[in-house]
Amino acid sequence: MAKKTKKTSKKVAPKKSTTKPGGSSSRVKKKGAAKVHAGGLNARHTTKKVARKSARSGGRSAPAADRRPRKDKMVFYFGGLGTEGDTSMKQLLGGKGANLADMTSIGLPVPPGFTITTDTCARYYEGGKRLPHGLMNEVHQHMATLEKETAKQFGSDENPLLVSVRSGAAVSMPGMMDTILNLGLNDTSVEGLVKATGNSRFAYDAYRRLINMFGDVVMGVHHDKFEAAFDAVKLRYGVTLDTEVPSDGLRELCDAYKEVYRAHVGDEFPQNPFKQLELAIEAVFKSWHADRAVSYRRLSGIVGLKGTAVNVQTMAYGNMGDDSGTGVAFTRNPSTGENEFYGEFLVNAQGEDVVAGIRTPRPVDEMKNWNARVYKQLIEIKKKLEKHYREMQDIEFTIERGKLYMLQTRTGKRTGGASVRIACDMVKEKLITEKQAVLRIPANDLTQLLLPSFDPSKKASADILARGLPASPGAAVGRPAFTAEEAVERALQGEQVILVRRETSPEDVDGMHSAVGILTSTGGMTSHAAVVARGWGKCCVAGASAIDINVAAGTFSVGGRTFGRQDLISLDGSTGEVIHGNLPRIEPKMSGDFAKVMRWADKYRTLGVRTNADAPKDAARARDFGAEGIGLCRTEHMFFEGDRIRSMREMILAESKEEREAALAKLLPYQRDDFIGIFEAMKGLPVTIRLLDPPLHEFVPHEEEMQREMAMRLGVPFEKIRSRVMMLQESNPMLGHRGCRLSITYPEILRMQVRAIVEATIECVRRKIKAMPEIMIPLVGTRAEFELLRRETEAVIREVKAEEDYTPRLDIKIGTMIEVPRAALAAKEIAEIADFFSFGTNDLTQLTFGYSRDDVNTFLPDYIRQEILPADPFGTLDQSGVGQLVEMGLVRGREGNDKLKVGICGEHGGDPASVEFCHRIGLDYVSCSPFRVPIARLAAAQAALRGN
Ligand code: PEP
Ligand code: MG
Repeated sequence: MAKKTKKTSKKVAPKKSTTKPGGSSSRVKKKGAAKVHAGGLNARHTTKKVARKSARSGGRSAPAADRRPRKDKMVFYFGGLGTEGDTSMKQLLGGKGANLADMTSIGLPVPPGFTITTDTCARYYEGGKRLPHGLMNEVHQHMATLEKETAKQFGSDENPLLVSVRSGAAVSMPGMMDTILNLGLNDTSVEGLVKATGNSRFAYDAYRRLINMFGDVVMGVHHDKFEAAFDAVKLRYGVTLDTEVPSDGLRELCDAYKEVYRAHVGDEFPQNPFKQLELAIEAVFKSWHADRAVSYRRLSGIVGLKGTAVNVQTMAYGNMGDDSGTGVAFTRNPSTGENEFYGEFLVNAQGEDVVAGIRTPRPVDEMKNWNARVYKQLIEIKKKLEKHYREMQDIEFTIERGKLYMLQTRTGKRTGGASVRIACDMVKEKLITEKQAVLRIPANDLTQLLLPSFDPSKKASADILARGLPASPGAAVGRPAFTAEEAVERALQGEQVILVRRETSPEDVDGMHSAVGILTSTGGMTSHAAVVARGWGKCCVAGASAIDINVAAGTFSVGGRTFGRQDLISLDGSTGEVIHGNLPRIEPKMSGDFAKVMRWADKYRTLGVRTNADAPKDAARARDFGAEGIGLCRTEHMFFEGDRIRSMREMILAESKEEREAALAKLLPYQRDDFIGIFEAMKGLPVTIRLLDPPLHEFVPHEEEMQREMAMRLGVPFEKIRSRVMMLQESNPMLGHRGCRLSITYPEILRMQVRAIVEATIECVRRKIKAMPEIMIPLVGTRAEFELLRRETEAVIREVKAEEDYTPRLDIKIGTMIEVPRAALAAKEIAEIADFFSFGTNDLTQLTFGYSRDDVNTFLPDYIRQEILPADPFGTLDQSGVGQLVEMGLVRGREGNDKLKVGICGEHGGDPASVEFCHRIGLDYVSCSPFRVPIARLAAAQAALRGN
């Protein structure tokens, strides 16, 4: 299913407008946290006031006093009259609310306000999208406190209190939910704002912004409708810029906007400020389930949140003249991690001016020349915040007539490189400990340090064609090739090609290898394309189902556009985006800090980390990344290179055992040399070699043309090929003749492979290369299967030793994969005769859920969207289901054999959450693709540290 591509990054620059502490907050004496009652702040005081206000506004009447127990409290105040929240309350108050409270408590200049809890949002939905009973009473009480603190009144015609209403979940979702500014303005209070500020243009500008935002966000009136009215006013006044419209023009604009509002809503713009507030609060709750917020959560894997909090905060204005402004900044550079104040600001502006792209913000550095005092104050706040949170912060601020207000602070998002650098620098600066540094770096983000990536600054304007699964990270740019042969041919001529296929099969490996990136329109995270690409560290986007491929025409279509062999496309394997054109890339910079973090990780982890590799080059790379052995060497890929496939096919077509053995004999030297290469690369580290696993039909061509070609090459009749291919066809190949079942039917395959392993080992010993092979039998479900094949394996080992006249002990361990649920159940009796287990959690997940790993993408996106599953179970181990089988297999296995070595080699071995699970239950090691080895090392250390 096509995932929507949405421009979400509203937050590229100062987006906030701002809040105002009433200009007169200095008049209000701070009274500490007094007067916090069970029912909220100043419950008795506000009761009266609310009653008065309700009468005035015709709103809901307040009960005598709200004596709800504290656990039902829906609203938390922050300000000079008492702050009820703190940074530990992120789940309840959202990140923004908790940190606003916290910043207030540490004495930073925060406009006062209050936060409605995330629980209240959950109750809003539980109650059938109705504001919970009593909520507006609490809101009235807190508004009264705010009025008291700011010495202003909501809706007043003298000095009106205006507020912003913003969302804020426990996990930040930048720009995903709604915000309304300048709330509280109406035809009366706008005149009050004129009086209070002496600035009529400003007051009416604020009013027109409110009508526009309220109409758009709360009532769904399209922004364009307001724009048209604005254009008409500009035309009348003969000006082109918004800022050139004089005060009278803005007055007229407010009338025109009210007209637009009436025409589209069918009602007047609400003049009652409390009605505005109530509707705005509800709109923020509703935005929790807006499409873009739901998509964002799905794409970011954010689950388990109750809802959004709502922050109601006194407005501060960055647009009151050239001594005002607004900005966002990071306390350190989020791209590089450098310890520099990094951000942007705009003079005389509200946040949405920046979002609308009307004006270009200036680097925050230039603030020194604009207002040195405020700049200095911001630098001090940067230090104070970092010392307080011991973390890099992302802040939003507003300067109103030379006075600085802080509107937000939160942990700053950063690149993988910046994460590593900041953690290391903060250890040096003694802000955090080594252990905290290890815990702080998101393990997955290390990927960015290992591969080139697209320049993030170019992403915003990119032409994104489709989105698939981020199957294998990397940034590939090339032209589409539609068959493996075409990819090989064009690559040989020096072209950079992207292999675009519905799905890939082992037949395509040459083409996959030749391509700079792989794009498939079907298949999941463990589809063939994904697994192979990850193993190679090659960029792959899988299951981009919006793409319709026409192999015959050499084109693919998406969104009504068609692309052919001449069109450049860029694939982002870290995000799953398919982009039109050549997006510039940046090379990773491996810093000394990265190595330092890896050393720290190794110091704290107890779980071993191996790699899945089946070629010497990949094995060597994984070793360089710190792999402590190979946990899975898939031998099937070794049969595809060059002429080998010919012998493999001869073997498959053979009609007698003798013929089969003759074909296998041709493959033996290749296999032996492959193993020698791998043993050399791994320099004495263990290498787990899995015997042939896939069904044989994967090695033969399925199209008639290719079958004819094969017949010609092998000198056999076409009919023979065709009937053999038909015979090999199975209804459910993944449940069919594969894994150990092949060796049971054709023991000569096992014998050839074991012989190659043993001969390679002896050869290595003779060359003084330490080789530590472990032979792994796939897809075992019963003890008898394993017993038979173990016997066979041992016989070959003995045979080869005798032939080679090799007498020293050869320590070759023989174990099995646990991929079939029955094997996990029967683990005790299997373990009694096995040296090791390796959980093949790709197949174990497939067989436990009954989801075909190659077809899962047809329904999985719906499951994730509807939160039927928290994550793709082929990417992150399903701990409560499949995980139980893993744990049971481990426990029963060790009951049967207390020396049993147990690891995992499914794709989950490189997923941080799954690695944590593996640590917790006590596996010996995880094995993952080479590029995920550093991630697994870090994740294992984090698991160990968290466990302690
Ligand atoms: C598995 O099933 O988890 C596994 C590693 O084997 P494969 O992916 O090759 O089936
Ligand atoms: Mg498997």
